[in-house]
Amino acid sequence: MKKVVLVIIIVFLISLGIGAYLLLFNDHIELILNGEKEITIEVNNEYKDLGITLKNNNKEIPNNKYTINKKDNLDTNKTGNYYIEYTINYKNKDYNITRNIKVVDTTPPTIEVNMEEVQKDYCTNKISSDLKYTANDNYDGDITDKIETIEENDNIILKVKDSSNNETTKIIKINYKEKPSNKFTLNGNNKVYVPINGTYKESGTKYTDGCGNKLNDKVKITGEVNTKELGTYKLTYEVNDEKTLTRNIIVYDPSTNIKTSSKVIYLTFDDGPGYYTNKILNILDKYNVKATFFVTHQFPSYLSLIKTEHEKGHTVALHTYTHKYDIYTSVDTYLNDFNKMNEVIKEYTGSYTKLFRFPGGSSNTVSKSYNKGIMTTLANKMQEDGYVYFDWNVSSGDASGAGSSKIYNNVINGVKKCDKCVVLMHDIKSTTANALDDILNTLTSNGYTFDSLNENSPTAHHGINN
Ligand SMILES: [Zn+2]
Repeated sequence: MKKVVLVIIIVFLISLGIGAYLLLFNDHIELILNGEKEITIEVNNEYKDLGITLKNNNKEIPNNKYTINKKDNLDTNKTGNYYIEYTINYKNKDYNITRNIKVVDTTPPTIEVNMEEVQKDYCTNKISSDLKYTANDNYDGDITDKIETIEENDNIILKVKDSSNNETTKIIKINYKEKPSNKFTLNGNNKVYVPINGTYKESGTKYTDGCGNKLNDKVKITGEVNTKELGTYKLTYEVNDEKTLTRNIIVYDPSTNIKTSSKVIYLTFDDGPGYYTNKILNILDKYNVKATFFVTHQFPSYLSLIKTEHEKGHTVALHTYTHKYDIYTSVDTYLNDFNKMNEVIKEYTGSYTKLFRFPGGSSNTVSKSYNKGIMTTLANKMQEDGYVYFDWNVSSGDASGAGSSKIYNNVINGVKKCDKCVVLMHDIKSTTANALDDILNTLTSNGYTFDSLNENSPTAHHGINN
């Protein structure tokens, strides 16, 4: 019995000894990764290894007591899963631990566009803007060819994904070009010349929507052409909701041999507006002739007719405020009168004019008694300042007291001698107002063309005599 107890005691003591030995003299080595076991870094970024810690029985072993051997396949410029294997040699024994490194790309690509909005053609339903785009990725580089375009809800959606499935979307707004308006146009000329007893051939009209598709509205033509009788005939073309078109058919006498192609008559009326201006405007309307009015401030109660002249499409040009020849006393007195009149013109037409006619014309000699050489100075100065002055090459003679029939003959015979005819008349003369209807009847019947003056029109300059 004693023996048994002894054995037990001995075994116990041995166990205690082994335990104490293990506790006191045996190593308990622990290898610890500093930082995470699995580390994720962005591609192209630097990886900084935090290393390991070696412990023995919970106590850190100073790093001069062991050697570390690191093995890895890490490439931070390439996405993927990598490892770092640490082999630690301590007291001639190797210990191993591994860390996982994930190199990822989470940066989405960028899309560059040359416009934020595009235009879509109403008619073709096609994008008419030259939209250009490129896609670039920090990792994949140029991935323009991977851009997907989707058209949806008046937007163009550009989508691109890089190799790591990072997606970028860019939205381009689609603007529809406004629906173009219908077009109603004449085929052929709006002025057709037919020799008397010749044949007038109607060339019709074209009526299309803004996309060029033919519209089926019936065109209503009113008016008649009588080729057996000299005159100007007006045809009117109408379709629903469109402005009407007109064509003048001029039946002329070929024996008068009018050069219908280049001959232009510029009717000019000086010294108004006045008592006869309105009548003259009505006659011009009747023949659809546009003329030029060289206006003055001589009859203030008629000044508002300047506005009428302008609104009817005639040219309003400047003559003089006072129409007194003492304006030629000096450059200053002339300009003072001129500028005062231009203010009046601006009041009624909305803008100043560059076009004018000297009282008495540029060739007048009356000015000599006020200032020698003034016309030369003024003509140069005004042209240098951008103004255009007009004289005339056909005189109606109305200012020197000619009666209506004399005025008629002066004009009809006068315009035969010029190709670009600037005709001097005065809208303050009853004789002119009375002759005008006959003048226009004859001239339009014979195929003459009329126009109003502009900065590029023939100026019919006289020579300057002072
Ligand atoms: Zn005058």
